[in-house]
Amino acid sequence: MSADYALYGEIAVITFNNPPVNGLGLATRTAAVDGLRRAQEDPRVKAIVITGAGKAFSGGADIREFNSPKALTEPTLHTLIRTAEESAKPVVAAIHSVCMGGGLELSLGCHYRVTLPGAQVALPEVKLGLLPGAGGTQRLPRALGLETALDMIVSGNPVPSEKLPALFDEVFGADVDLVPAAVAFAAKIADVRPLPKVRDRQAAHADPAAFLQDARGRVAAAAGPFPAPLECVETVAAAVTMPFEAGLAFERERFMHLIGTPESKALRHAFFAEREAAKVPGVPADTPRRPIERAAVVGAGTMGGGIAMAFANAGIPVTVLESTQEALDRGLAAIRASYEGTVRKGRLTPEQLARRIALIGGTLRYEEIALADIVVEAVFEQADVKEAVFRQLDAVMKPGAILATNTSTLDVDRIAAVTRRPQDVVGTHFFSPAQVMKLLEIVRGRATGNDVLATVLALAKKLKKTGVVAGVCDGFIGNRMIEQYVRQAGFLLNEGCTPAQVDGAIERFGFAMGPFRMSDLAGNDIGWAIRKRRAVERPEITYSRTADLLCELGRFGQKTGAGWYDYRPGDRTAHPSAEVDAMIAAHVHGLGHAPRVIGDAEVVERLVYALVNEGARILEEGIALRASDIDMVYLTGYGFPLFRGGPMFYADTVGLPAVLAAIGRFAAGPHGEAWQPAPLLARLAAEGRGFNDR
Ligand code: NAD
Repeated sequence: MSADYALYGEIAVITFNNPPVNGLGLATRTAAVDGLRRAQEDPRVKAIVITGAGKAFSGGADIREFNSPKALTEPTLHTLIRTAEESAKPVVAAIHSVCMGGGLELSLGCHYRVTLPGAQVALPEVKLGLLPGAGGTQRLPRALGLETALDMIVSGNPVPSEKLPALFDEVFGADVDLVPAAVAFAAKIADVRPLPKVRDRQAAHADPAAFLQDARGRVAAAAGPFPAPLECVETVAAAVTMPFEAGLAFERERFMHLIGTPESKALRHAFFAEREAAKVPGVPADTPRRPIERAAVVGAGTMGGGIAMAFANAGIPVTVLESTQEALDRGLAAIRASYEGTVRKGRLTPEQLARRIALIGGTLRYEEIALADIVVEAVFEQADVKEAVFRQLDAVMKPGAILATNTSTLDVDRIAAVTRRPQDVVGTHFFSPAQVMKLLEIVRGRATGNDVLATVLALAKKLKKTGVVAGVCDGFIGNRMIEQYVRQAGFLLNEGCTPAQVDGAIERFGFAMGPFRMSDLAGNDIGWAIRKRRAVERPEITYSRTADLLCELGRFGQKTGAGWYDYRPGDRTAHPSAEVDAMIAAHVHGLGHAPRVIGDAEVVERLVYALVNEGARILEEGIALRASDIDMVYLTGYGFPLFRGGPMFYADTVGLPAVLAAIGRFAAGPHGEAWQPAPLLARLAAEGRGFNDR
């Protein structure tokens, strides 16, 4: 039973009881419909109140029923809403805290709605590439008018209940006890007939045709590749152009269409992937966590500054430690300048700036950070420098402090081994700019404690980041895969592409930025240093020479005003470079083969399947816990197009046999040595399975 039934004198009260947010799953729907029927049959009952126990009225459809036949089992949400709407006795929705999706649609089928202020009211379906499919597109415009309803349905964003007076028959005071107040309201209206129904109203607007025409243009421009926002407009339009029942049927049809689109599937995948990423085997939800009340960061460079800001933005006081006063002053000035830029853009008030700056301190002395609950090391990427820092931390930090490293490529286990507390050492790999980027790769060392992992996963959430756990290997999940992608981009230059052609193709596929523009932003010298190291450690790995030749020209990227592209002072726009074109042409000439014309499709396959193949290895080695974690890394840290759901999900939609066949073709091509298919990919393709249904 996941809804309770009680009598308050002549008023029946049905209370959803399906934690955490009273999702309208099958058991809850059944109990609610039973309650409504029982109230009809009981001659003592004059009116009915529907409300929710705990932290919500209702968060909507039960996501645990997504992709399961239960969602379509009677009583469906439609049936529940109709039972309320057709009740011969008045039904009052008593709303508090959260009223979203199906919960709001149900309340629109009730005859009356009462609420406490501050309830979050939303139809968020568009965020999963869908539209409200239980009458929301037809009833909300009739309740709130065309304009407000369209805004809510197209954006999916919550609106506090007190800002929607037209939706409610009464907004109580904040300190009112909701159920008794709703019962009193129900008693007051118990005899009023006819029963008011939202469906009988008109969707108000002075000039609906002009408004909708304008909305179509506006929404189409903002929707990008996603079909759902425009479908929302069309179904809301039906609330004015069609009779109610026809509108409902149209809504149903468009909902069923959207549910099958790859864009909606990708968004739903990403939604679940984010939740899954927080679940780590061996680290159950009740694993004890260490308190994080103050933080420290070692190194106030690009990353250290951003990481300090991420802490301050979450309200956590943080002290930055540097090796010289000059570097410290420079680092703190950069933090201030970055915040001031945000204030100029109007995204931060001067008061917020002052509060955040006040949370950030600086020091040159380890003793001053000794009491921090977590310290994140972000010094130069050199093993000896980092190991010296960790020896110091081991000597001074209080017992139980978490010692984290932001290393991109070094071995977390080796770093942990220089301390006497390897269980407290963990990798926290932030992405640049660290105060903005959502991804946090959490690197689990051999000895990392489960409570440390649980604490850092919770901290990621507090910092508003998506934490994804990775095992120890060179590059972890994200950078290990991107190396193969960038390697292919280089080979494409050897075979006849220009940087702009490669970037253009992958950006048309949907990436935020192609590999060459990305390298110019990050600094081409970083990859150069890595390749020099690789040349010693693993000389068998081949690369296009073009990236080294570029660095030999001093073209390190945006920071030197020239990289794969030319840049004008103070402008990040990438302009194709005659010098680079000539360098590449001379290199290709020297290779002794004729350049060929390479189409967008091949560029995309070469780059994306390079990610997929390496991702399969990472999965098989257990570096990533699941395919969806890899997708999360790429969606939140590398600008992979959200509407394609991440590289592994995308490979599943293409079909692994097709991916494997393409890899086979590339293996027979000019840089075939880079294309041994991952055994896991070959096995899943043979078994007719995908990465995400392992
Ligand atoms: P950076 O050169 O901008 O900053 C390093 C800072 O550390 C400098 O300010 C330096 O003065 C300071 N420092 C050096 N030795 C120190 C010591 N012994 N004690 C205190 N401070 C010391 O480098 P960065 O780009 O911020 O990178 C820092 C770390 O983050 C590296 O491990 C890097 O691999 C990693 N990382 C970088 C990026 C990126 O995009 N730049 C992304 C993820 C991770």
